[in-house]
Amino acid sequence: MNYRQKKLTRRELIKFLAIGITFPLMTGAINKAEAAKAPKTVVKYQDNPNRNEKCSNCMQFIPGKTPQANGECKIVEGRISPEGWCTAYTPKA
Ligand code: SF4
Repeated sequence: MNYRQKKLTRRELIKFLAIGITFPLMTGAINKAEAAKAPKTVVKYQDNPNRNEKCSNCMQFIPGKTPQANGECKIVEGRISPEGWCTAYTPKA
């Protein structure tokens, strides 16, 4: 193996190490963001509104495909009903 071949091998090794380190870190960051959401029990989530307060008019709600479909919440884990409510309710401005 001459010098040029050895240098190329080192470059490839560094490239593989960079990918091997970076990809798991990125994946871990995404999982940590998802894990940071509160469990439904902690915020006393319910599938029914609390008077006129409901997920569909909360600023944390991410709507589903239709207005009646379940969506997601920015801070509470799991599928969220547009008719639901929890103690972290924050009205849209
Ligand atoms: S914070 Fe609570 S009320 Fe607001 S969308 Fe999320 S689950 Fe619904």
